[in-house]
Amino acid sequence: MKSIFDSSDMNEPRLVSVKMVRDSRGALGVVEGLNEVGFNFKRFYFLTDLSKDSERGGHAHKRLRQCFVALRGGVTVRLEGFGKTHEIRLDSCEKALILPSGYWRELVDFDSDSLVAVLASEYYDEQDYIRDYEEFLSYSRPAAITAVPYIDLGRHVEAMRGNLQEAVDRTFDSGMFIGGSLVAEFEVAFARYSGAAKAVGVANGYDALELALRARGIGPGHEVIVPAHTFVATALAVSRAGATPVLVDVERDTALMDVTQVEARITPRTKAVIPVHLYGHPVDMDPLLEISSRHDLFVLEDAAQSHGAFYKGRRCGSLGDAAAFSFYPTKNLGAYGDAGGVTSDDSEFVSKVRQLGNYGASRKYYHDDLGINSRLDPMQAAFLLQKLEWLDRWNARRSELARRYIDGLSDIDGLRLPAIRNWAEPVWHVFAVQVAEGRRQALESWLAGVGVGTNIHYPLPIHHQKCFANFGWDPNSFPIAQSLTQSVLSLPLDALHTDDEIDYVIEQTRNFFKA
Ligand SMILES: *Cc1c(COP(=O)(O)O)cnc(C)c1O
Repeated sequence: MKSIFDSSDMNEPRLVSVKMVRDSRGALGVVEGLNEVGFNFKRFYFLTDLSKDSERGGHAHKRLRQCFVALRGGVTVRLEGFGKTHEIRLDSCEKALILPSGYWRELVDFDSDSLVAVLASEYYDEQDYIRDYEEFLSYSRPAAITAVPYIDLGRHVEAMRGNLQEAVDRTFDSGMFIGGSLVAEFEVAFARYSGAAKAVGVANGYDALELALRARGIGPGHEVIVPAHTFVATALAVSRAGATPVLVDVERDTALMDVTQVEARITPRTKAVIPVHLYGHPVDMDPLLEISSRHDLFVLEDAAQSHGAFYKGRRCGSLGDAAAFSFYPTKNLGAYGDAGGVTSDDSEFVSKVRQLGNYGASRKYYHDDLGINSRLDPMQAAFLLQKLEWLDRWNARRSELARRYIDGLSDIDGLRLPAIRNWAEPVWHVFAVQVAEGRRQALESWLAGVGVGTNIHYPLPIHHQKCFANFGWDPNSFPIAQSLTQSVLSLPLDALHTDDEIDYVIEQTRNFFKA
């Protein structure tokens, strides 16, 4: 049987082959829950004593999902839902029909000896039925869109509820609530995914950055180059490691670190550079790596927004000496709480990160370094293992929606869309448009007025943040970063937004510029 991850649309009914195990004793058919069908079964029932003119079904379910197998004989299943109709003949116990919720179904044309088995995702609940066809029609007709949330994490939970419950069970079954096999399993899987030799889980993305710097011996008296336009954690982690952040400006069209400005900022104290693959688009790493190798700088990718993105065919997280990831819930790979990780090809370095994040202990109760407590929670690791299976599919969906925005908005004067370098395969953590001088606030309010959630990433450049007020930075020294903070506006873009929702945002944005 093909796994659920092979299906691109979770709302499509699917006919799949039942796994058959045959030997001299006969045949055994196997249907697995979560991984194959997409849900675990709460009920098993079957239809029998049928005649040719029997009719079953004639209803829809709001939430319940089912898997049908004609164990003997045959039946025709007529389906209607999501604007489509399907007619499927089930006449072999080697085929299973997986039926999502929201379909009106009619079972007709039974063979007289038919025996049809049904596996259901929920217990019996009369509230879940729609028994009236007219009611079904009004239920299934997509209501006109009147609001689009910036992101709705509830949809992620709903889409994956079975997998997430499985993750909770796996955690309890493991009996390990700090460290243990689930954390180790995730570290191996995530390193492989990112194309790095090793990964170590930590408590969040901020710690990932700080611990990576400290593991490389970077601290007081050292300087680390970071972009002036990023989430504050990038620069704050440098300070918390005891070193001094040194800023460079960013490119106007991508909002990424301007690599051509890095060399001029290098002093004898410079030990590292942190390129941030902001919004899911990779930084131009080759020239940066060339400069860094000439000056012996440690290159630490801030990959908190770029899980799965490619630079010249290589994944973010395997491009520099090490990379720091955040698994904050809204990131492309997000946990259900705080979580982070560091990847690198250098296993000694990765052990050092692990040691620093575990009270600096080289072995239990022997503390070599002034470490901290920053460990990946096993339940978060279990969630992340489930979600890692979906990451490529969801990143592909983000790209589809970004393409929809680009096609729908590229002709608008007064709006600059995010640039894509030809060597990049971005993962669209954020779709940040730049709005013409002085109009950002007006567009933001307009969209809010028609129910569209937006965000500003970020309203202040690093050198204007109060926490760095005593660093002596000239407030006018990074003009592009400063002007981006006045013009950027992030439109809703999440894997679980529908095409219609994105079209609504496009239409409302166009209306603003027409008005
Ligand atoms: C989210 C983020 C971080 C910090 O991650 P946390 O897990 O929230 O600590 C660091 N850098 C960037 C660019 C981020 O977007």
